[in-house]
Amino acid sequence: MNYYAGIDLGGTKIYSVILDESGKILAREKVKTGSTDNQNDVIQRISDCYRKALKTSGIADDQIKAIGMAVPSPVNVDRGILIHAPNLGWKNIPLASIMHRETGKPFFIDNDVNLGVYGEYSFNKNIKGENIYGMFVGTGIGGGYIRNGQIIRGKNHTAGEIGHMIVKTGGPHCNCGRNGCLEAIAGKLGIIANIRKKVDKEGKTTLLSTISPEWRKNIGSSALKKCWDAGDLPVMKAIRKSAVTIGIAAANLINAVGIDTLILGGGVIEELGDVMIPLIRQSMTEYSIGNGAEGIEVVQSHLGDDAVALGAGWFASRPENRRYLITQ
Ligand SMILES: [Zn+2]
Repeated sequence: MNYYAGIDLGGTKIYSVILDESGKILAREKVKTGSTDNQNDVIQRISDCYRKALKTSGIADDQIKAIGMAVPSPVNVDRGILIHAPNLGWKNIPLASIMHRETGKPFFIDNDVNLGVYGEYSFNKNIKGENIYGMFVGTGIGGGYIRNGQIIRGKNHTAGEIGHMIVKTGGPHCNCGRNGCLEAIAGKLGIIANIRKKVDKEGKTTLLSTISPEWRKNIGSSALKKCWDAGDLPVMKAIRKSAVTIGIAAANLINAVGIDTLILGGGVIEELGDVMIPLIRQSMTEYSIGNGAEGIEVVQSHLGDDAVALGAGWFASRPENRRYLITQ
């Protein structure tokens, strides 16, 4: 049997899995990403994380045939180049070659959300059809698009960046430097901005001041859920606005390319999927042309922390993807 490794390189942690050729995960390990100022140190920690997982799995190094790694950046997958990862402060790095030299394995890298959606597409039985879009709602909103089993990356490797679809011209400022992007309204930063509007400008009160005093900077998704359950009005309003806006973005996708299944994941959806998904579906239906949204599946991601690393390892394992493996 052949074995593979998948790695998820994130801003705070590195997560590695070992899988067999059926996609079964044999081991999982994680280490802290730590400071990213010194690239060589991070590369060492990625390698350590892989070797830790390998040891836990009991698989010998020479049985690992390829490694896939997900990075928080657009990626030139033909050359294995990380284009720009603001969270890591890295730009234009031939990371697949570097990791190939470090591990001795054929190596593949791609964008983390692309690979998370690919993982769900490959292993989530609720997904129907061949035109699949995934949105992951956290601090920002990431997206990935799969058509007929292929990850669609676009001419310049930026396709799928749904978080920066403009849904309100002249809307709130986004971290990307433009205004009115989906994530500036519906991602966690947008949700915070909308709660602030109610509390700081209109004088409403929120439970967050008690349960999460630092909420103006950052909120855990579980605190948002607690506030929703307690009927906290500023939070409920911001969550509803987020859901309706995600629905508008989904309708735009349906109108533009016609999807079969929308996968929703990320911390906000994991906590609030039960309340948000019906609202998203309703808004998606309302804003699609004609009966565009009829029969479209809206499913919650179910692989959790494994999705991205598993997607990375699985992609690297597939014979049809061999041409993407970097071996020098
Ligand atoms: Zn933006």
